[in-house]
Amino acid sequence: MKIPNLLAPGYLHSVLIKAKIKEQNSRFLTHYAAGTVSGLIRAEALENENETRDSLIASLRIQGAEDRCRVYRRMVRYPDFHRQLIAFHRLMQDYGLTLEELPETTEGQRELKTLLSLIRDLPFSHNSEIRFLNELAAQDFSGIECTPGWVEDLHQQCLLDQMKARGLRIRPLPSAQPRTTRFYKALNSRQEAEGAAQLILREEWKPEEVMIILCDSQRDGSLVRSVLARYQLPAAQVSYQKPSKILRCFDAFVALTRAPSVEAVLKTLQLKAYPVLITEAYVQYLTQFVFDLNSLCEPVFTHVQQALETNTLLNTIEKENLLRLEAQAQSVHEQLLPWLLPLLEDVPLSEKLNRCYELLRQHSCLSDELERRALLNLKTTLEDCWDLLEQPEALDMLMALLAQKKLEISEEVDGRIAITDLKHPLPARPLTLLFGADQNSFPGNIAYAGIFDEDYLKTTSMPSQADRYDHYTKQLEWIYTSASHCLIYSYAAGNYEGKSWDVAFEIEQRAASRAVLWPLVQNEVYSDQWHQLTPETARRLFTPDHVLRGSISSFETYFQCPYAYFLKSGLRLSKGSLTTVNAAIVGTIQHALLEQSIQTWGKDYAKLNETEMAAILNPYFQQLHNLFPDQQAEIDQIQRRMQLNLTQLLDALAAMEENTSFAPAYQEYRFEEDLLETGGITVRLKGIIDRIDTCLGDLRILDYKSSAKTLSESKVKAGLQLQLLTYLIIAVRKLKLNPAGAYYCSLKNETISVSEASLNGRRMEIEDVGRDAWMSELQSSHQLKGWTMKDCDGLDYDGTHVQGLTCKEGQVKVRSPKDFESVQALILELYALLTEQLSAGRIELDPVEGACLFCDFKPVCRLRKAPKKPVALVGKEEGKEVQDGDSVE
Ligand code: SF4
Repeated sequence: MKIPNLLAPGYLHSVLIKAKIKEQNSRFLTHYAAGTVSGLIRAEALENENETRDSLIASLRIQGAEDRCRVYRRMVRYPDFHRQLIAFHRLMQDYGLTLEELPETTEGQRELKTLLSLIRDLPFSHNSEIRFLNELAAQDFSGIECTPGWVEDLHQQCLLDQMKARGLRIRPLPSAQPRTTRFYKALNSRQEAEGAAQLILREEWKPEEVMIILCDSQRDGSLVRSVLARYQLPAAQVSYQKPSKILRCFDAFVALTRAPSVEAVLKTLQLKAYPVLITEAYVQYLTQFVFDLNSLCEPVFTHVQQALETNTLLNTIEKENLLRLEAQAQSVHEQLLPWLLPLLEDVPLSEKLNRCYELLRQHSCLSDELERRALLNLKTTLEDCWDLLEQPEALDMLMALLAQKKLEISEEVDGRIAITDLKHPLPARPLTLLFGADQNSFPGNIAYAGIFDEDYLKTTSMPSQADRYDHYTKQLEWIYTSASHCLIYSYAAGNYEGKSWDVAFEIEQRAASRAVLWPLVQNEVYSDQWHQLTPETARRLFTPDHVLRGSISSFETYFQCPYAYFLKSGLRLSKGSLTTVNAAIVGTIQHALLEQSIQTWGKDYAKLNETEMAAILNPYFQQLHNLFPDQQAEIDQIQRRMQLNLTQLLDALAAMEENTSFAPAYQEYRFEEDLLETGGITVRLKGIIDRIDTCLGDLRILDYKSSAKTLSESKVKAGLQLQLLTYLIIAVRKLKLNPAGAYYCSLKNETISVSEASLNGRRMEIEDVGRDAWMSELQSSHQLKGWTMKDCDGLDYDGTHVQGLTCKEGQVKVRSPKDFESVQALILELYALLTEQLSAGRIELDPVEGACLFCDFKPVCRLRKAPKKPVALVGKEEGKEVQDGDSVE
């Protein structure tokens, strides 16, 4: 056995060698080698000794004993159960426990003993250790130094003691007594890390003078590293783990080859496991439009193209987006298929593993040394266990073992803040900070849990929990001598969910004073970004040819939030392709039903029956089924609800039609109109008016809405309700008829609340509220809501179907008729204002209340202030502001 001059854990090698060089006052060491105790034991392993292989054999034997168990019958299939048995078997080897001494009081204990007897001959690393100890007896260790670092358990301590008996010289890490201690707490771990970073800067500690000991490195490691990096403090962590990308990909590939499915393919794609650039578009397409492996294996994707051939529901942009998605997916698909198809073939398991491994060799992460090493280890493991892997149970166990493997990262701490944890002692530095010392994390838990818990161990000759705890706390002593100047204890009083954590009892005792809050410099001042374009940029963006084009709703967006308009109509950002049936599609179908029924039955359109309705609706829903075949149930449900809703709605519309002389004259009336010219810019509007009704020389506008909506004077003056009135202006100009009114027609059956009874205050009696009162409430919820421009006999014979009418002695009157000319002037003034503001490049982030509710840009605009209340931009001198919705009452 060749023994190095220095035995120490790997992460200490460079620290100790540098110290040695310094001690010898030279620049390098000759004939000097560092090694580890576990490395010496491993070197004793024979060719055929392999711990992973032993685990797989153990797993197969345990599963083969299913019939011999009653209590654990179901568990013998689970790798985690096997792991616990194997771990206990190794514990028995380490502490010399015999099968005979294991308890047999219960049936479960007897079964555990039987299972353990099945694997008693498997050596794992035990034989190498015995060989090492035999050789040890013949060795002289007096020329060898050892800095043990952390001695994990009493078994390791025993090994060390035997080496010491052979002359091994123990050289502890340099330690010191801190001159002062401090005790801090923070609200949460982030503030704790911020406090530590700020203290290092405030007190001007050099990075190499500072050590941070994490009580829970798993929880706090990346947080502390990232906070220190943000403060530009150089730091390194002596030892931490991270998942291996290559092993995760192997796991996903093996799962895919064993049980091919679209979901399994998606998992490999999410891990970016192929040597092909996988785009978001490809993953989205597969998730949305590929439902079985046969479709996935097709060389060309055609689903969207075929479904859209006959689709009349989606608008041009939605269709373009979906077709673009399919084209983008296709280009990735062509590159991916040659790699994917071999994984889906039905070949023997060993061949499947071979293909998975070969694919991994192409992975881009292999530029990382650690990942490369993980792949090499995987190769060795596969070779060592190859003959066993044809058995699915052995492969299950192998995959479970691989899932636990992590990349071990050790960073060079020289000249940097050293981040370490309880089990990786380092030489003392001037300032040490014990981080996260709460009861969950410090001093840590050494009690055994699971099937072989402390109660079970108590019945064996295993060292007692008290002895083990004693050994553990002695190991922790290094913390209290790890600072020469100042030792800081610190903990967070709670986590981010608001759950409180208490400080560790031992630390409270040591600190001997109450913790104070970390002094933190916090910046709470935030100023919103001011967005502004130069007039030149604005002109090129919005009015390149001196024409401001757009839909009326897009201009309403400007008045809701100029920045949202800039993103949507200036930069033309959109949400991406359609993923499901949305409210706009539902609205389109409802519009189409009304349009077709009016075309067929004219003014009697509302009398169509259920069969006729279904005949109109079915082709549209068939289009949705074709496009989203995986959403059959949802689409059917939407259709059922729509039919029910429309049946009730048509009843209300039939009553309205019977009470008016107006009749539908135009539907889906398309226009493109130059509304005005202002400041050298023409405002050109494009749109579709849902319906124009006429009666003699009058016209009225009906705009179908998916929910109840009223026309509010304050919102009109704030530019937030341009659409309906602009339609009226355009219709009057185009058709040369007189404006009677413009109304919203809600397609929704609102839920209305009705009273069962009312109190007659004069007679002090409770009176029932009858069905007639309920029906009149229902009818008023279906009223056309908007503005009426003039008294008009044929508008509504009884004054109950149009909002804002009164009926006295058979005479219907408009309560507050609007003057069309004034309304037109107001609307044109708003468009002129819009043009002026856009030309000046005003695109500030300044939404009105409610604008952000359904805005697609919420994740990108970074608004921090409260939205403003709508204010009148025009017509301010026209007197008192009126409240929303009551302007015509
Ligand atoms: S979320 Fe609100 S503030 Fe942000 S862009 Fe949309 S409307 Fe404007």
